[in-house]
Amino acid sequence: MDFYILLGVDRAASLDDVKRAYRRLARQFHPDVNPGDGVAAGRFREIAQAYEILGDPGRRRRYDVMGVESPDQDGPATGFEGFDFSATIHAVQQSTFGDLFAEVFGADEARGGPERGADLHHTLSLSFAQAMAGGEHRLALMRQDICEGCAGTGHASIAAARCPACEGDGMVRSARGHMVFTRPCGRCAGSGVLSQQGCQACGGLGQVRRSDAIVVPVPAGVADGARLRVASRGNAGRAGGPPGDVYVAVRVEEHPLFRRERDDLHLIVPVAVHEAVLGARVDIPVLDGTARLRVPPGTQTGQRIRLRGRGAPSPRDGRRGDLVAEIRVTLPRLLDERSKELLRQFGEINGREKVREQFERFLERG
Ligand SMILES: [Zn+2]
Ligand SMILES: [Zn+2]
Repeated sequence: MDFYILLGVDRAASLDDVKRAYRRLARQFHPDVNPGDGVAAGRFREIAQAYEILGDPGRRRRYDVMGVESPDQDGPATGFEGFDFSATIHAVQQSTFGDLFAEVFGADEARGGPERGADLHHTLSLSFAQAMAGGEHRLALMRQDICEGCAGTGHASIAAARCPACEGDGMVRSARGHMVFTRPCGRCAGSGVLSQQGCQACGGLGQVRRSDAIVVPVPAGVADGARLRVASRGNAGRAGGPPGDVYVAVRVEEHPLFRRERDDLHLIVPVAVHEAVLGARVDIPVLDGTARLRVPPGTQTGQRIRLRGRGAPSPRDGRRGDLVAEIRVTLPRLLDERSKELLRQFGEINGREKVREQFERFLERG
């Protein structure tokens, strides 16, 4: 049982969100409001257990990491005190009695009003090529959906019977110290007749957890770390509230050759000495196949040659960046005598060239 689902909150929910969700559900399923309703009582226990963990930042962190928290696993080894369930229920009843007390005086805050469903957060991992191409990607996820058994109401119709909570009276009495309050029975809404019971399919929540697949439209050229929103595919809302959204964080695998910088793609192009000196045309990989790169005579290592419009498509307007070819002159490892001899001759012919001119000027000055 997922505690977040139980409380109907997202994993990123704040402590206030958790408290609010818990209070609303505790009121809905409190045994006082649903006397003799086993489904509601079970749900109430689960809600209390979920709040015991998610309402405590330390225990919530542990739960987020371990996924479970039970006394068996978190025993003396971690110094974590066991889960005292009876204490929880007791505490819950106390606080919820307080809420009911407030209701008696009309402080009932919009209980059961429409509420937007929680947003969901997911990650979509794409290869470099997939990110460049874009398109529709399916993403499997678990989401809370409206229960079909009860159309989201949480209860199902049954043959009318006398309400066991008020014994057909329609009113219940409760004593607080020397004061006695009379209020309409919550179970039968003051009618004295029960014509519905908690929906078995959803345990009265009105929602069920279900695996679903959504289609994420990915713009061509989407970059690593981008966040896409798929509207209205998050958790279903409550009481007619709108559904939440799904936020998809995109992860893009690195490419073995291309390095992306904004919409430009950088590529290191090794060229041989003679190609750099004499100039050459070399075939290089680009996104959509190969391109012929013109290396001008006298190209130095580190020099950049830009191929306009051969970079990544912009995810905003589809316009493509540039491909930036960065030249690396690669020195040959000479193994044969003839090549060595040719290079020696090359040195003799070009020996006077002042490759270290600035050193010589410095040394002459003494
Ligand atoms: Zn249902
Ligand atoms: Zn009743």
